Amino acid sequence: MKLESYQTINNHVLTHRGHQYLELAATYGTPLYIFDETSFKERVVSYKNAFQSPHFDTQILYASKALLTKAIGKLIAQLDIGQDVVSGGEIFVGLAAGVPAKNMYFHGNNKTNAELIYAIEQGVGTIVIDNRMEIERVNHIAKTANTVQRVLLRLNPGVEAHTHDYIKTAHLDSKFGESVFDTDIEAIIQKMVDATHLNFAGFHCHIGSQIFDETSFLKAASEMLHFTRKIEEKLAIRIEEINFGGGFGVYYTSEDTPFEVTAFLPRFTTFVHEESQRIGLALKKITIEPGRSLVNASGSTLYTVGDIKHTTGGKHYLFIDGGMSDNIRPALYQAKYEAVLTNKATQEPTTTYTIAGKACESGDKIIESISLPMAETGDLLLVNGTGAYNYTMASHYNRLPKPAMIHIDEETHRLTVKRDSYEDLMRNELD
Ligand SMILES: *Cc1c(COP(=O)(O)O)cnc(C)c1O
Repeated sequence: MKLESYQTINNHVLTHRGHQYLELAATYGTPLYIFDETSFKERVVSYKNAFQSPHFDTQILYASKALLTKAIGKLIAQLDIGQDVVSGGEIFVGLAAGVPAKNMYFHGNNKTNAELIYAIEQGVGTIVIDNRMEIERVNHIAKTANTVQRVLLRLNPGVEAHTHDYIKTAHLDSKFGESVFDTDIEAIIQKMVDATHLNFAGFHCHIGSQIFDETSFLKAASEMLHFTRKIEEKLAIRIEEINFGGGFGVYYTSEDTPFEVTAFLPRFTTFVHEESQRIGLALKKITIEPGRSLVNASGSTLYTVGDIKHTTGGKHYLFIDGGMSDNIRPALYQAKYEAVLTNKATQEPTTTYTIAGKACESGDKIIESISLPMAETGDLLLVNGTGAYNYTMASHYNRLPKPAMIHIDEETHRLTVKRDSYEDLMRNELD
């Protein structure tokens, strides 16, 4: 397993900033989500420093669907970045943590009226309108609240990014946004411009996730800039902002080849500036919305090895005390991970294991095939790269309590999410 900067091997045992995983397991139990606060803060600061321009305002919006707890929200507030939210629940947690509503961008392809009313009453700064039907709803709710709501329109620029490349297409069937190729697109934008209680500020796009190819972002940016300029001319308006979305790829296994985001961002802002100048566009503000790339490498999950099964077919199953209930990604989309037995960190691998969870699903595997030293019941297994889309996708399947989460910051560690009790599992249930 590729170690993170906060992980070191002392006396053949893997530690997290000098903390023994054995002690963390004894103190907090397993499965345990471990979040390295220091590396997260450093990453946010380096992104902020890299995403600056003398030509327009810049803002990083953390896509909080990747990982959001009250403690994470507090860090977002403290680090003074914006928050990208996709539900009333995410707004609620962000506000409870102290993120100013004005720094929130509210996304979603089907925001409910109740969510929109809540967002507008709380003063959410920007609502990213997904589709033509939503325009009227937001305008009406803003009018009822006696306010003018700042809005962007989510566009589909016809660039669809895949992990290593992109395709250019006018026939996207995404459920998100309105296509730049739609024959009604100008009318849709005009409607937003004309809406009495909307302040139409610009456009948003998000071309995919876990993208390793810089060109995809530049291509999408170029399409967005040209489209924006065309709309300015056609509708005789000025457009303030483009939000270019998130999707920067991260390392899970040696198959992944992410680029350095902090090196890319200055190239990106320069590209946007030069291209804008060339076509006569004068944006006031550009925003990006990284989620996964900000949190993933700071998160890991610690499990205890239970039974080990050698099948008659020759497979070696290593069972852990969690699984798809705390990490659905392998079952959901064949996501891959690396892992290490923390107490055998320097031992040579001898056996190929399938790491399986305890849920009643054959697909409940965290790693299909991994070489590890001979495992024994009671060993601790650590899976890296679980900061994003693990806790936020966790479920109570099989009535498994959700794990606890701790933050480790320099020398200290603290509980930020308590482990569910059995009572918690029935909290909302009536006779
Ligand atoms: C999911 C999402 C993001 C973040 O994507 P990552 O791959 O986690 O960086 C940003 N913007 C929007 C609109 C999204 O849906």
